[in-house]
Amino acid sequence: MPNIKKIILKSGKDQSLRRLHPWVFSGAIKKMEGNPGDGDLVQVFDNKGEFLALGHYQIGSIAVRIFSFTDILPDEKYWTEKIRSAYQCRLHMGLAESSSTNVFRLVNGEGDGMPGLIADFYKGTLVLQFHSIGMYRMKETLYNSFSNVLGNSLIAVYDKSKGTLPGKLRDQTENVWMAGNEADVKVREYNNQFLVNVEKGQKTGFFIDQRENRKLLGKLAKGRKVLNMFGYSGGFSVYALRGEAEMVHTVDSSASAIDLARENVELNFPGSTKHEAIAADAFEFLENAGNKYDLIVLDPPAFAKRRNVLHQALQGYKRLNAKALQSIQKGGILFTFSCSQVVSRENFRKSVFVAAANTGRSVRILYQLSQPLDHPVNIYHPEGEYLKGLVLYVE
Ligand code: SAH
Repeated sequence: MPNIKKIILKSGKDQSLRRLHPWVFSGAIKKMEGNPGDGDLVQVFDNKGEFLALGHYQIGSIAVRIFSFTDILPDEKYWTEKIRSAYQCRLHMGLAESSSTNVFRLVNGEGDGMPGLIADFYKGTLVLQFHSIGMYRMKETLYNSFSNVLGNSLIAVYDKSKGTLPGKLRDQTENVWMAGNEADVKVREYNNQFLVNVEKGQKTGFFIDQRENRKLLGKLAKGRKVLNMFGYSGGFSVYALRGEAEMVHTVDSSASAIDLARENVELNFPGSTKHEAIAADAFEFLENAGNKYDLIVLDPPAFAKRRNVLHQALQGYKRLNAKALQSIQKGGILFTFSCSQVVSRENFRKSVFVAAANTGRSVRILYQLSQPLDHPVNIYHPEGEYLKGLVLYVE
């Protein structure tokens, strides 16, 4: 390609790209040609001038996010094929065009070969979240590509990147409707209904990534007294009630989340008296909860967003899990999660292990959970595996 900016790697620093890992760290760069700036398209070469990959440059520790290991022209047709491939995957897995579920993640960043881009589909409303400047700059092209793939099933497109873009760009950006305007969507997930407001809701509106784990909880909930801690819009609570739990308490520190949880339970189980939603801090609530519950869900927000607070985060998981393990009834089931990318599965398991050991209770691991198939992990990019969960049986 003429006039494209170039990045040449130091000797030996080409190995990770040859293993198809999609990031180039700034320390690997020997020199740059054409003075690449934030968001620019760049070709990456090894020390001997051999082409390695194509990606977006950005000033920072991750200097290039790679989307192609062949030297192609990344035009609308190219992105359409990439998005079509992501869509086909969801279609083959029975998610897209399913009659029981109309909410799913259509593009999961590196997991779908598109670093810097998240696209969540809410019954025809597509929410785009850009995490890199290069992808953000291409938003009009990407919009056309999504339209090409989704056709008439695309009703509205919302760009919700204000909170996810880096640095200065974040301050200059507003969330905008690129097409249509459908902020309130009533979605279906395994035939349960949920109200989602994509503008005001957390993340892109709903925690799509817990779908399969919520379903599993539904199967284990019969006759149980459930505490859904960090419950947000009541996802786990609705599945618990569907699974004939005896009583369900949703707790979240956000008052608007609690209102939404109430509405969602009412939508699925009008007039139900089995559910109560409480706005409270998790640690305080667990302190005073007594031993009422025999099924507890702990799904906290990411305790560590960066590696330098990893130790603190692990202490947090330990303390939280210890409290739940102390109070849960004999024969109880604990669903416990971490969605911090920097906390490894092993580290998370260790924190829960120490919490269990401190209580001295007998604990069996029943399931080890992860993120669902519409949040795929690129096999060459293990960092993409962020959601970790354990289901424990506590005597
Ligand atoms: N389980 C939910 C997603 C949980 S996201 C689902 O399936 O949809 C994490 C939630 O924790 C958020 O709703 C946030 O408001 C809440 N939260 C954050 N800090 C908290 C605290 N200290 N106590 C209680 N809730 C908290």
